[in-house]
Amino acid sequence: MGRLLLLLPTETYRAHDFMEAAGALDVDVAVGSDRPQALADLTPGKTLALSFPTPDAAVRDILAFAETYPLDAILGVDDDSVLLAAMASEALGLSHNSTASVRASRYKHVMRQMLADTGLPSPRFRLFSIQDDPAAAARSVRFPCVLKPVSLSASRGVIRADSPDAFTGAFRRIVALLSRPGVATRAGETADRVLVEDYIPGEEVVLEGLLAGGALTVLALFDKPDPLEGPYFEETLYVTPSRLPADRQAAIRNTTGEAARALGLREGPVHAELRLNDAGVWIVEIAARSIGGLCSRILRFGAGISLEELILRQAAGLHPGPMQRVEGAAGVMMLPVPKQGVLRSVRGTDAAKQVAGIRDVVITIPPGQEVEPLPEGSRYLGFVFAHADRPEEVEAALREAYRRLAVTIEP
Ligand code: ADP
Repeated sequence: MGRLLLLLPTETYRAHDFMEAAGALDVDVAVGSDRPQALADLTPGKTLALSFPTPDAAVRDILAFAETYPLDAILGVDDDSVLLAAMASEALGLSHNSTASVRASRYKHVMRQMLADTGLPSPRFRLFSIQDDPAAAARSVRFPCVLKPVSLSASRGVIRADSPDAFTGAFRRIVALLSRPGVATRAGETADRVLVEDYIPGEEVVLEGLLAGGALTVLALFDKPDPLEGPYFEETLYVTPSRLPADRQAAIRNTTGEAARALGLREGPVHAELRLNDAGVWIVEIAARSIGGLCSRILRFGAGISLEELILRQAAGLHPGPMQRVEGAAGVMMLPVPKQGVLRSVRGTDAAKQVAGIRDVVITIPPGQEVEPLPEGSRYLGFVFAHADRPEEVEAALREAYRRLAVTIEP
């Protein structure tokens, strides 16, 4: 393996863990990021400044870089960078998921259309323009439904509506969100659309997997023990292994594999969210990336390697080693932002760390910063990590640790 280009937008939570994994590997890694690196001239071939919002220009920059520093693989780490990785890989003739497949997983309306063409359970959906009259749009959908922007992530802008009034309010809220400068830049050409789907009732799970030549290996299946019924869909608890019966777990694996195939995804990480009810297993979303935030820190595989190392090894063509998760049951709690304002303090982290099973509590927003809850906000206050013998113990430890935290946010 020669050189691997790792695409790390500065805003991503994933930078540290991927950089650490890259450091542990005997592979030449260059980092493409959206800020010019101050030390770039001192470390030629190690960094590349890229504009993620203009992927065509970024692809040209990657091609120019590759003329001097030949690349063997390009890896994106989050929603913003996986599509660029696919486009640049295609332009360079490197093996990767096709651009079309990653685009399908990146844009929720494209994903819905492609999944609707399979035999998989799929919600009815309609795509609206932000110019549409919400009251008229409300007359053409069924309730309850879920409105969402097509290319944001972490539940940002995802709102359930149970009535025409709620629909109109949610629609306007999404239009306002999409017109914010940073959000509009990120959403790009899709900032003018609102997707509306039938609400899928049922419990939700998350499958973290790795595709190789189209074959899916399940790395971890997480239960989400907090009910997610809206109107906003705040992620909180993830606990693995799943407590679902084996036949349900097999159905989740099969559905995820079929969805990946339907989209054309064949290589690298997949992160799928699914809902279960009497009508079957429903894909909420399947993304061609690994789990977000700092959540991967609870996962270790084989002889103790991280998820990021596993992914980098596969991308670099190295043997990934055993992919069994080790260390019993594990879980993470994403700490939601409870209200809008200026974060003053998060107290009780030491007490939270004393709870049996808690490995760490990491607060990721420094005091003094403005914070905003869902559906507009995009950040977590931090993360709590736990390990124990059984998933019930992990869940109890995370809930108790959370109870010990006191968050102060002032207007
Ligand atoms: P994002 O990529 O921003 O996370 P998703 O489409 O995955 O957006 O939606 C976020 C969350 O909202 C999901 O995890 C799920 O809990 C909820 N959700 C989204 N769509 C639906 C739906 N059609 N029915 C029920 N819940 C939904």
